Amino acid sequence: MTAMMKAAIFVGPNRIEIADKPIPDVGPNDALMRITTTTICGTDVHILKGEYPVAKGLTLGHEPVGVIEKLGSAVQGYREGQRVIAGAICPNFNSYAAQDGVASQDGSYLVASERCGGHGYKATAGWRFGNLIDGTQAEYVLVPDAEGNLAPIPDGLSDEQVLMCPDIMSTGFKGAENANIKIGDTVVIFAQGPIGLCATAGARLLGATTIIGIDGNDHRLEIARAMGADITLNYKNCDVVAEVMKLTGGKGADSAIEALGTRSTFESSMRVLKPGGTLSSLGVYSGDLAIPLVAFAAGLGDHRINTALCPGGKERMRRLMNVVASGRVDLGVMVTHQYKLDDIVAAYELFANQRDGVLKIAIKPH
Ligand SMILES: [Zn+2]
Repeated sequence: MTAMMKAAIFVGPNRIEIADKPIPDVGPNDALMRITTTTICGTDVHILKGEYPVAKGLTLGHEPVGVIEKLGSAVQGYREGQRVIAGAICPNFNSYAAQDGVASQDGSYLVASERCGGHGYKATAGWRFGNLIDGTQAEYVLVPDAEGNLAPIPDGLSDEQVLMCPDIMSTGFKGAENANIKIGDTVVIFAQGPIGLCATAGARLLGATTIIGIDGNDHRLEIARAMGADITLNYKNCDVVAEVMKLTGGKGADSAIEALGTRSTFESSMRVLKPGGTLSSLGVYSGDLAIPLVAFAAGLGDHRINTALCPGGKERMRRLMNVVASGRVDLGVMVTHQYKLDDIVAAYELFANQRDGVLKIAIKPH
């Protein structure tokens, strides 16, 4: 008889249900991970609403914290029972895209089914959990290419302390890294949701000394100050572009990080930049963008626009968990709620509507 597990599956727009699924078989390069804690991401809400298409019946979620239940025959360097995380993005690190330095855009495993050209690059395809393969909102998840993707959790760190590493911290920090921050810089971060908060913390770690956090929610702005923002602006109370120009003496910010994914925040990010400044974009956009001509100096302003998908891989995860272990940043404060996997539908409802000061919800299968 096949052993079964519980999983949160996408049934159709606005419908996620707990279903029984077989516990996956382990191939030579895979690992089966027993999930002890996972969470819900803003991207999962896009999927729930039908704004980002995935296959019906797919298990959602891409932020795994757990224990190795079973290792594939070819996987070296780990032991069953070990506490591990895996990145939300878990590409094949032997692929051309990964060797070319853009592992998150690896679609090598889609070539055989003709969903990706022979070159093996496909934008966002490094994101497999809860997108191309069954995800982490379940009792177990199969981690592909385990040797490149499983990262052991350092002793003494709780599930909650490392829960941000697979996606939120990796993405937010990448936004700061992509902003070309130098010591003493002024950085503006548009939106202080979980990813914007991590971008704020990352900007501080990289040496920015005037960090301006923007949001419409005063509670989130208060947390932004605790995470490293020197100044916070509520866009409901002021013209944020004018305010940044005033704060920088008319020069503009060295860089802006867009952490929401709307046309208006993208344009504002462009408008606050100094000539030669960098716009680091993290948002997931759902429509065409426009570049404001004057702010863009008609294309002659030496501006840079960088985009990114969350970096994955065991070395990235090791570094992020090292930041947590060092005490430089405390992301445990972002875990505001806890739900059982059985109650995940209610957790989605809370998270999607941003009720009760929610930032991130720890989801526990047991
Ligand atoms: Zn995510």
